[in-house]
Amino acid sequence: MKVLVPGGAGYIGSHTVLELIDRGYEVVVLDNLQKGHRKAVDCEFVQADLLDKDKVSEILKEHKVEAVIHFAANSLVGESMERPDSYFRNNDVGGLNLLDAMKENGVKYLVFSSTAATYGEPENIPILETDPTIPTNPYGETKLVFEKIMKWYDKAFGIKHMILRYFNVAGAHSSGRIGEDHDPETHLIPLVLKTALGIREDIRLFGTDYDTEDGTCIRDYIHVTDLADAHILALENMVSKNRSNIYNLGNGNGFSVKQIIDAAREVTGCSIKTVNTDRRPGDPPVLIASSEKIQKELEWSPKFNDINTIIDSAWKWHKENPKGFNDK
Ligand code: UDP
Repeated sequence: MKVLVPGGAGYIGSHTVLELIDRGYEVVVLDNLQKGHRKAVDCEFVQADLLDKDKVSEILKEHKVEAVIHFAANSLVGESMERPDSYFRNNDVGGLNLLDAMKENGVKYLVFSSTAATYGEPENIPILETDPTIPTNPYGETKLVFEKIMKWYDKAFGIKHMILRYFNVAGAHSSGRIGEDHDPETHLIPLVLKTALGIREDIRLFGTDYDTEDGTCIRDYIHVTDLADAHILALENMVSKNRSNIYNLGNGNGFSVKQIIDAAREVTGCSIKTVNTDRRPGDPPVLIASSEKIQKELEWSPKFNDINTIIDSAWKWHKENPKGFNDK
């Protein structure tokens, strides 16, 4: 089966592409390389933007694409608060172009990378797929809007979708070929590891007065390879059963910011200096997934459910590639 992967040069996209290739899929990556890395892709590649609908349609046709796993999006909460215009344009107009190009070319299957940010401030922990979705930032809203668009494209045009709502993703591929490299980096684990390497002087704790045991935010961390695996299970289930569905993806365990830093100290053997700062706007105190649905229905089970192992996998990548893909 030939799969188009928009955003396949990004962090989660490139890890999913490697898994797809390992399992015998033919893959073509589409990426505008605004954030993605050409060096992260070792298969057919087209540099293009989802805002160019004609080009997307041409690529689907030329490559005889049968399914799409869609990662191409802007994904920073803080940036989305300042630039809702470009977030809605890239994530929703771009997504709509992709769906229309799929409709034009008879492509019926779409796996979509969504987010825990669709839930906003959760009422219940762990969060279930059926819980209310009230995003507190434009990023989460753009993803929720696109989930709704897909629902109606399914009803009207029979384009099936699998929505995967990710929690916090971390780690790197076991081959050492690819890993996490954002510019600017905003995520906790890579920043903590850059501090351990001495690339940064300290790590700032965004709020130490939350209503949690140690006062810092709690998140649910999932390894990027486990996430990639879930995309393929979702694709195969969607195609074989010709159905749409929605799944949370996390490990079901919460770790505070301080616990992550302590785990990183243990893994790296480095001291890692911290500085207390104000809360980051839009951060809910606790986000923990229930992934029971995907475990039961698709028999997904995370291979990396120990936080030290997840951090160790990221640590290997950062140690080997302190300048990310610029070292490659
Ligand atoms: N965080 C922090 N300092 C940083 C970066 C992140 O304290 O320099 C906190 C952030 O407030 C959140 C958690 O770490 O509670 C995870 O943040 P990240 O940006 O990695 O992922 P998010 O939860 O926003 O998807």
